[in-house]
Amino acid sequence: MKALQYRTIGAAPEVVEIETPEPGPGQVRLRVTAAGACHSDAFVMSLPEEAYVYGLPLTLGHEGAGVVDKLGDGVKGVEVGTSVAVYGPWGCGHCYQCAQGRENYCARAGELGIAPPGLGSPGAMAEYMIVDDPRHLVPLGDLDPVANVSLTDAGLTPYHAIKASLPKLVPGSVAVAIGAGGLGHVGIQILRAVTSATVVALDVNEEKLALATEVGAHHAFLSDDGAVDEVRRLSGGRGAIAVLDFVGIQPTMDLGSKMLAVGGDHVMVGVGSGSLPAGFLDRPWESSVRAPYWGYRSELFEVLDLARAGVISVETEVFSLDDAPKAYEKLHAGTLRGRAVVVP
Ligand code: NAD
Ligand code: ZN
Ligand code: ZN
Repeated sequence: MKALQYRTIGAAPEVVEIETPEPGPGQVRLRVTAAGACHSDAFVMSLPEEAYVYGLPLTLGHEGAGVVDKLGDGVKGVEVGTSVAVYGPWGCGHCYQCAQGRENYCARAGELGIAPPGLGSPGAMAEYMIVDDPRHLVPLGDLDPVANVSLTDAGLTPYHAIKASLPKLVPGSVAVAIGAGGLGHVGIQILRAVTSATVVALDVNEEKLALATEVGAHHAFLSDDGAVDEVRRLSGGRGAIAVLDFVGIQPTMDLGSKMLAVGGDHVMVGVGSGSLPAGFLDRPWESSVRAPYWGYRSELFEVLDLARAGVISVETEVFSLDDAPKAYEKLHAGTLRGRAVVVP
């Protein structure tokens, strides 16, 4: 089968021919219908050899959807032919976190060598993929896999980040999304769908600001100090009760700090190299800083239900598997609109 693999540190990923995998006991093989490209893939491929822990060659793709194609020995509860999305942050299934569906925070995944598809295990950018356990499969039903595959990360991650701040996102509050890319443009829609907050989007790119407004941001501003004044003005001087930083570099963290309200949540979603001082006098009173990773299994069901309700959707640019390296070139150049989705 064809697969997109990262094979050499520092080099671009390549389309290669590899053996079609067979599902082992307890595993499920999917015929992949769609796979999304995330900025985290670009991050992984930017790591120097000493920091790279994902194994080579690595079949990319941690956003996956497919049709159940073959069941390994002992698999029950799923049927061949079912259209599914893949819950990506695989855990052990047994620890305290996993018992609550919080497999993204599994306490034992590292020790047991369990890694998400595309981030250690072979991913979805291939004609077929192996899913370790049927519990990672969420039925898509009538949802189009190509249009919705990215909800498994670009939807789930912002949803999880926003959900913990919901009690604060009351009428009259202001929420700020920094970075209106793959995650950000879905995050904006989630904020609109599940809160009554005024939603402000910030980006450095005018086209992303236009997309942010199209998908529902009440306001969109360039990501600079002028935005701090705008957010203060829009919030009656209080500042933003939630700042969702989908970039995570020092300039966006500093900007977010300047506009955060008393009691606000500063949420670091972007995997950048920024950091924040957290001493008693450094932050607005009672504010908190969170660094959420991906989301819970149960939340993926909720995100897909938001899509079914027609209140969120992913802006996609579709690529063939042969053209998948181009998707990453565009992601790297910042010229994608929404999310790149590869269809094998
Ligand atoms: P993306 O490339 O699609 O979007 C990034 C957006 O940020 C772009 O619109 C870009 O123009 C904008 N941007 C860049 N610099 C900016 C700045 N200084 N100010 C404002 N906007 C700026 O990326 P993505 O796939 O949406 O991923 C976003 C980030 O989230 C990445 O760092 C990724 O690694 C991370 N991520 C984290 C998790 C998690 O679990 N925490 C999950 C998925 C992705
Ligand atoms: Zn991702
Ligand atoms: Zn676990």
